[in-house]
Amino acid sequence: MTLILDGRETAKEVRREVKEGVAAFRGRHGRPPGLAVILVGEDPASRIYTRNKARAAAKCGMFDVLHRLPDTTGESEILELISALNADPRIDGILVQLPLPAAVDARRILAAVDPAKDADGFHPLNLGRLVLGEEGPTPCTPLGILTLLDRYEIDLEGMEAVVLGRSNIVGKPMATLLTARNATVTVCHSRTRDLGFHTRRADLVVSAMGRPERITGDMVKEGVVAVDVGINRLPDGTLVGDFHFESVAPKARAVTPVPGGVGPMTIATLLANVLRLAGYRVRSSE
Ligand code: NAP
Repeated sequence: MTLILDGRETAKEVRREVKEGVAAFRGRHGRPPGLAVILVGEDPASRIYTRNKARAAAKCGMFDVLHRLPDTTGESEILELISALNADPRIDGILVQLPLPAAVDARRILAAVDPAKDADGFHPLNLGRLVLGEEGPTPCTPLGILTLLDRYEIDLEGMEAVVLGRSNIVGKPMATLLTARNATVTVCHSRTRDLGFHTRRADLVVSAMGRPERITGDMVKEGVVAVDVGINRLPDGTLVGDFHFESVAPKARAVTPVPGGVGPMTIATLLANVLRLAGYRVRSSE
């Protein structure tokens, strides 16, 4: 029987724990942890993501602000806002929703966020810490995937893991985290010659390509653990992942659905990151 890794239920559990942590933090420090979300432009998916993130923060008792800026906003204006949020004592976590408009240098923007308030773990210093195995905020999607696998007691030690995609926000940190957990990791990308050669020998495939149903049942081995990060909308409006669920799931030992798998874990992990950052901040000022 294939195990469905239920991201919705697991995320609920994590959010419940965060809510308790938020109440305890508030009791101890007289204020809730605070999250600021910055959205530049009108990208419909980004609007939904940021609204969901801000709502989830409010629901678990955090202080939250959502800054919505028009896509004509210049880099200096965004940098000014970030600088104000860096200095704002109510804010423990800052999230800049990606992608930013093409005219804005995303690297400069992400680097301007105080690393101690870097809710997404995208600051170069924090990505460096991740590679070095040091403590710091970790990108939410890959960390959420590890949490999901842990809660279902999937042991990663010694696994042949294949990560499809090498983006800075999913693929690369995912590969680093899996390596740190003693999996043997292969990273594939658009120039990989034979994707199936790699996926067929994998115990764990994490796909973050954004290619609808690209990985079919004949490309995975019996007993694979299939983690689908991809969110793809088909022309008829259906949401599908990178795996062809109908042919992969019957062969898999465990699989994440789309929607309801990795997505909810990303948001829950963001909240956990903000709570952790709030804790670090008060400890470092004591
Ligand atoms: P991205 O920056 O576009 O990266 C996609 C990666 O996939 C790239 O490394 C690319 O290779 C690789 N790739 C593309 N087509 C490929 C192919 N045919 N064969 C092998 N590799 C291929 O995307 P991202 O930001 O990492 O996001 C990936 C997907 O995850 C998207 O669908 C996104 O919507 C989704 N996502 C979901 C969540 C969530 O919470 N569920 C969070 C973040 C992202 P190259 O490097 O060679 O171009």
